[in-house]
Amino acid sequence: MKNKIKKIGITGGKGGTGKSTIAILFANKFIEENKKVLLVDCDVECPNDYLLLGQKLEKPKEKVYAEFPELNKAKCKKCGLCVRTCRSNAIFQAPGKYPIFIKDLCSGCGACWLVCPHKAIRPKREEIGQIFVNQIKRNFWLITGQANAGLEETGPVVVQTKKFVTSLAKKIKPDFILFDTAAGTHCPVISALMDCDLAYTVTEPTPMGAYDLNLILDLCQKLKVPAKIILNQADLGNKTEIKKVAKKFKIKIEKEIPYSKELVEAYSKGRLLELSLI
Ligand code: SF4
Ligand code: SF4
Repeated sequence: MKNKIKKIGITGGKGGTGKSTIAILFANKFIEENKKVLLVDCDVECPNDYLLLGQKLEKPKEKVYAEFPELNKAKCKKCGLCVRTCRSNAIFQAPGKYPIFIKDLCSGCGACWLVCPHKAIRPKREEIGQIFVNQIKRNFWLITGQANAGLEETGPVVVQTKKFVTSLAKKIKPDFILFDTAAGTHCPVISALMDCDLAYTVTEPTPMGAYDLNLILDLCQKLKVPAKIILNQADLGNKTEIKKVAKKFKIKIEKEIPYSKELVEAYSKGRLLELSLI
């Protein structure tokens, strides 16, 4: 029987800890073991894995759409029910006036057009992002989700990118899917980590690194995703606070990666594919 595809999240509450670098190093390790790998860049607001791999994003394989509300004033009775229903505070209504939709706050959940008793709101489909595929090697593919500039609610782009990857995986049958998440613990990160078999949380030996590690491990615990810690630039700071967080969550530091000039050079030249440091 074919083994189940292993889905691994590469994450870390803090930005700039080297998540993308570590994700690519893991991909390199699995490729060297002759495994098939899909690396998915879920940092859809500013994906950069393609740059680190010396690639370009050419023609999108798929476009991502979302539905936003549009008002038909001829039908609207200004009752305000849509305003009271919207949990994102994305509808403003001055007394006696028509409701106004604030797109930057709208998640496209659809509650307003479902609740309107006069059918005065209809969903309007709009493109919010694109999905790109680069085949890097015979057994290595990079899938990049990219949100349109200025989009506030980027979670749907991550969700759609993951759906695309699920159907691509049925054709390619990879051994590993690596999800490189955005920094933080917000919606797009949750969407990226959901259903992962394991998460590597990448951190650095600083008080801020420890603080954010605590947040991301807490999130992994809530999502019931087992987590391991990767300590990047391990020799450039004090590990005491990181060790305390690891102890609190009963998680060992899986790997310590020291500062490496070779790694920094490969990073800046988009040549990470050539490195095997994990
Ligand atoms: S619920 Fe419908 S009718 Fe009432 S204010 Fe909103 S759009 Fe207008
Ligand atoms: S689609 Fe959802 S978030 Fe957007 S305005 Fe309607 S109720 Fe609010």
